[in-house]
Amino acid sequence: MKTLLVTGCAGFIGSNFVPYFLAKYPDIRLINLDLLTYAGDMANLSEVKENERHIFVRGDICDRPLVESLFNDYDIRGVIHFAAESHVDNSIKNPGIFIQTNVNGTFTLIDVAYKAWMEKPFTYKHGYEGCRFHHISTDEVYGTLGETGYFCEETPYAPNSPYSASKAGSDMIVRSYHHTYGLNTVITNCSNNYGPKQHDEKLIPTIIRNALSGKNIPIYGDGKNIRDWLYVLDHCKGIDLVYHAGRSGEVYNIGGRNERNNNQIADRICTILDEIKPRIDGKSYKELISYVEDRAGHDRRYAIDATKIETELGWKAEDNFDSGIVKTVHWYIGKYV
Ligand code: NAD
Repeated sequence: MKTLLVTGCAGFIGSNFVPYFLAKYPDIRLINLDLLTYAGDMANLSEVKENERHIFVRGDICDRPLVESLFNDYDIRGVIHFAAESHVDNSIKNPGIFIQTNVNGTFTLIDVAYKAWMEKPFTYKHGYEGCRFHHISTDEVYGTLGETGYFCEETPYAPNSPYSASKAGSDMIVRSYHHTYGLNTVITNCSNNYGPKQHDEKLIPTIIRNALSGKNIPIYGDGKNIRDWLYVLDHCKGIDLVYHAGRSGEVYNIGGRNERNNNQIADRICTILDEIKPRIDGKSYKELISYVEDRAGHDRRYAIDATKIETELGWKAEDNFDSGIVKTVHWYIGKYV
């Protein structure tokens, strides 16, 4: 049985990834290193609680002795690195922890992996050939778009928030370990995810939760900021494909070709709620939508050109926004009601 280290999998995307991956690969065991910050929740992992191929370790990716001991004790043969501070608003208020976790944490992990797997630059230890470091990143590293155009893998980095700058920094470290040491790396830069288990602080859970409790639904600025929304399981399937079949040293963008602005998101969710959970006073949830002061430095538009992963690896999003959001709303009704 092969053992991989996954990080941050008590959070949103990782906790969707783990059950999918364990079910698909019965010969793989996962060591899940997660600090359980405010963003991590063991309840997200309830599906794999009894699974002997999932071992949870509470700890910090910046803790080098701990990371080294995991590599030694479990003979780690691959890393899929999700752990990060991930909320842009928090990065504006408290950027330091983003640099610490996202930059220093990624450095610690990849440096330990390099030393565990390789004898010297471009020479893997016998038996460790093929050990791969997969870094999970974001389209936010590319900055913001105008009304037209798409981010592709060659788009120059232009991060605008402390969050995206810290992710850009971590991407650059991973890139350098491929070019300098010949480490087998892949990076995926994905657009905005939505789906079950996302933290309450994020946009879609906030819209649903506030609507259901009759509170104002806060929308930043004019609500016209556009994101390219991807159902979380489609992201997980893309990660699986790139981890197993992506070319070493390459970057793959993942995105659903489903651009929506925040007004459209709020409107669609309210329409679904009006149908399946109508308010007792007969009014529409849309009446709760209210506009609040815009986020500082708020990027206007993100959109991914996913041609590379589609043509090279045959990935395609199975859900579009209209199908994914219905499942998502049902899941949060189960959580909040
Ligand atoms: P999340 O905030 O929901 O989860 C992050 C997890 O990392 C939590 O479980 C937290 O406890 C853990 N963590 C934080 N600091 C840690 C540390 N120092 N050591 C160990 N664990 C730590 O994040 P998410 O939305 O699941 O995002 C996962 C990854 O995907 C991140 O790298 C993020 O940048 C990237 N990403 C997210 C999105 C999105 O829309 N959510 C889109 C593209 C890329």
